[in-house]
Amino acid sequence: MPFKNTQISTVLFFFILLLSLQLFLSQPARADHLSAPVHHISMEFDLETNSYSANSRIELPAGVGLQLNLSGLNVSRILVNGQPTETTPESYYLDIHESSKEQEILITYNSEILPDSASYNMISKTGIALSGQWHPVADREMIFKLTAVIPDDFEAVSEADEIITFQVDNKKQVTFRFSHPLHSIHFVAGPYRITRAEFGEGNELFAYFYSEDNELAAQYISKARQYLERYEKMLGPYPFKRFSIVENRLPTGFAMPTFTLLGQAVVRLPFIVDTSLGHEVLHSWFGSGVRMSPQKGNWVEGLTTYLADQAFAADKGEEVTYRKEQIIKYQSYVRPDMDLTLRDFSNVGHGSNEGRPVRAVGYNKSSMFFHMLKNRVGSEIFINSLRDFYKRLKYDIADWSDLQTSFESISGIELNDFFAQWLDRKDVPELSIQKPEIENKDGYPIVRFNIVQKNDPPYALDLPVIIKSSSEEIRKTLSVSESSHTFEIPLTSVPETLIIDPGYDIMRTLVQSELPATWSLYLGAATNIAILQSEEHRTLYSSLLTELEGNNIRVLLQEEVTDKELAENSVLFLGAESRMSRALFALPDHPADGFTLDSRKNPLNANQVAVLVSAANAEQVDRTVAKLRHYGKYSYLSFKEGRIQNKRITATDLGLHVKLVNLPTGIEASRAKSFEDIISKLLNYQIIYIGEAHTNYEDHILQLEIIRALYKNDPNLTIGMEMFTRSTQPILDRYLKGEIDEKSFLKESHYFKIWRFDYRLYRDIINFAKHNHLPILALNLEKDIVNKVFKSGGPNSLPDDDINSLPANRKLDIPGYRERIETAFNMHAGQGQNGAFSGFLQAQAIWDETMAETITDYLDTHPDARMVIIAGRGHVDRINAIPPRVGRRLPVSQAVVVNSMGLTTESETADYIFFSPPARLSPFPLLGVMLEDTEDEEGMLVTSTDPKGQAKQAGIKEKDIILAIDSEPINDMEDIKIAMLYKVNSDDVTVRIKRQKLFGDKLMEIKVPLKNPERHGQMRRN
Ligand SMILES: [Zn+2]
Repeated sequence: MPFKNTQISTVLFFFILLLSLQLFLSQPARADHLSAPVHHISMEFDLETNSYSANSRIELPAGVGLQLNLSGLNVSRILVNGQPTETTPESYYLDIHESSKEQEILITYNSEILPDSASYNMISKTGIALSGQWHPVADREMIFKLTAVIPDDFEAVSEADEIITFQVDNKKQVTFRFSHPLHSIHFVAGPYRITRAEFGEGNELFAYFYSEDNELAAQYISKARQYLERYEKMLGPYPFKRFSIVENRLPTGFAMPTFTLLGQAVVRLPFIVDTSLGHEVLHSWFGSGVRMSPQKGNWVEGLTTYLADQAFAADKGEEVTYRKEQIIKYQSYVRPDMDLTLRDFSNVGHGSNEGRPVRAVGYNKSSMFFHMLKNRVGSEIFINSLRDFYKRLKYDIADWSDLQTSFESISGIELNDFFAQWLDRKDVPELSIQKPEIENKDGYPIVRFNIVQKNDPPYALDLPVIIKSSSEEIRKTLSVSESSHTFEIPLTSVPETLIIDPGYDIMRTLVQSELPATWSLYLGAATNIAILQSEEHRTLYSSLLTELEGNNIRVLLQEEVTDKELAENSVLFLGAESRMSRALFALPDHPADGFTLDSRKNPLNANQVAVLVSAANAEQVDRTVAKLRHYGKYSYLSFKEGRIQNKRITATDLGLHVKLVNLPTGIEASRAKSFEDIISKLLNYQIIYIGEAHTNYEDHILQLEIIRALYKNDPNLTIGMEMFTRSTQPILDRYLKGEIDEKSFLKESHYFKIWRFDYRLYRDIINFAKHNHLPILALNLEKDIVNKVFKSGGPNSLPDDDINSLPANRKLDIPGYRERIETAFNMHAGQGQNGAFSGFLQAQAIWDETMAETITDYLDTHPDARMVIIAGRGHVDRINAIPPRVGRRLPVSQAVVVNSMGLTTESETADYIFFSPPARLSPFPLLGVMLEDTEDEEGMLVTSTDPKGQAKQAGIKEKDIILAIDSEPINDMEDIKIAMLYKVNSDDVTVRIKRQKLFGDKLMEIKVPLKNPERHGQMRRN
């Protein structure tokens, strides 16, 4: 069952090398052809009753015993050396003990194959296929001599170097000659049209196709001949005399000696000739020519996958992608706690879910093993070793040690450790790059880094690396065999990126940046849940639910899911319009008809995936579900009427990337634009964001200058400000209309509680708006909601009213957003933040989405307005902050303006960058006291005084209560801030205090000079 390259995934059937009948074999001794028993079978069919009857005559040489398995057969007579006998009671086994003389066993049996039988057997007027168990099978190999009587218009195939047909009355008698011992044989017959060709040294090639498909035969013959010639040239002569491609009514994809048996539906798939056919042909060399014993390990599938499927991808220049997909498949299904080694892989199993990890080892890891082996010994020695192996073990059973022997003798390299680490370990290398540093020597850079392996003991690896700079690309192969290995590589230019294993030459654990979110990653995740939008969706998705439950996936209603579960699991949203899905991914752009499956990284946890599923109706779900298993490697799939319409894999890094140095970017000074030029360009946009570092006065001056210039050209201007929460809009409006004064505005809007920064930074902008009657739109979300979301890890535990006040469509997976927010989170991580990152991300997204929604709501009702948005730089990021969230809601032209802070990212995250001259506000006056609310309504308590501060020197002491400043009553911190705001240019203030004394309090007035404030009085806003 090779899941093959990109195209094969639509195959509905599994291609397996038939091994199952060999499973019970206990002693797969090297067959001694001369002493092999000879098994004569003669059989005939009754198509009316779907049955056959047969005689087996087994000639057992002297000194050879045998156990026969007769399961599934209706045995009417057994004669051993002429004596009637029976199987042991209640078992299918017949034991024949060895004798000093030759023995003869005669068995007469028949069997009826029910039309709906799940076995690989069928007997009908349209064809016969006996590819499950249908004859007595021994615990050792035998030479088979089969004769079958078939209808006159049928042709028959079995393992054979020669097929002899006689006409007997109105029937055909077919005899098959094959001189190599086998455990079991297969028989197929039907109304075939035969196409014949030749290949190699007088070998015959046949296609047995049904007449309705016979037009396909020519292409199959031509392609099969190319494969046969390719592998003869590569490996040595084809081991048999004939090869047939045989069509089957049953859905098979089997390879057996001298033929391949392909299901009718498979044969009709257009890409089979380019993929599976070559794989099955190659099994003539490995699998049929040199066989394997399941007990000693299945090396066959890995080698065949490598020399066929991987090689065909390489022919098209797609080998890197192919190998990466192999590794991703392995990583999706094989988890570290699974005890699976390549040496233990024996049988492909069938297409079951449980078999996926086993197949990932037996096909994907195994084919990577052969790739690494090729790189270890070199291409030429690799092929020569395989030729030697094939020559030595043709018609025989071989195991991994036989391969090792050939590779060691041809290469002269001792490969014991190499084979052992890849065959006997259940882990794969997990690498990381640590401490990348650059040092200059003689003015040239040397890059130094550690390659660290998590594995114990470490693997021995030859690791390809690329070091990229703007002018060169250095490729090296580094030998690693320790837990941590330091490398130093001298360079002639500054290295920008270090890439480990860019060609996927090593079987290893991929890092997140290499892993696209895929359907298989969801299915294989250790912790995964499915979330139903509502009870009604149980019916809509019932067939998918059955499939999910078959994968042991927990299904929950969205009301039952907590923020924690959302962040800790790989999640599947059944219904992409659910509240919970929209809160992470907004509304995805899925086709309205058909069925869509859309896998993404879980934005709350980069190690998990989130899958959005939507469907037009239950019929679309039902028609698609069974097909999904073949599309595991894809990120996005859309089906209509069960047919694939669109499939893609999200692009990811090739190789493990480490960013080393960002060279500075620059602009050509002569091309720098004047202020007026930029304004004329900004007039083309409806929304102009002007980012700020909140305390940079230059940024606020730039904001005012741009607002003034835009207004001069077009007075229909609205200013949106992050600094005010939406609930303060009425107060803002009253101030702008002149209904309240500035002090009342600051007090009622709680500016100094909510925003806290020096009001003078914004005063000129607000007063410009007031003077010119420009509206100001308060953009920000209430702070306590942001805090609650952060602390509780998400919005789902908020009261319903709060949840309903949030924008329903929020997009957390905008590219780069998570990474940017994570950097900010980690910078604050040491500052006593106690929420989880997932809560921080949720809060940030809610914040940005709220501002975006406020802007678009406003433009909905004021479509002609131009807006200037004033917000922190993080919120105006052109790529992933407010602008794309506005763009998602409304098609509107937007530009981002920032002042240069010398960051290399500026040119990506902004449209216009200014270089403002430095500017500073005069320091905000300070008293030099720490204050606390009093228990009374009145005054503020001095808890400590700055020893060098003005207040202490003027005589204010700890425990004094400040009642007023220059006769402005002081009851809380806001009052102090507002009072001091108006004292900026004052020489001193008069502070009225109450001093608590043992015998009654004393009221005093103290004059505090404002001469030497070293720090200004803003508090940082978190
Ligand atoms: Zn195979």
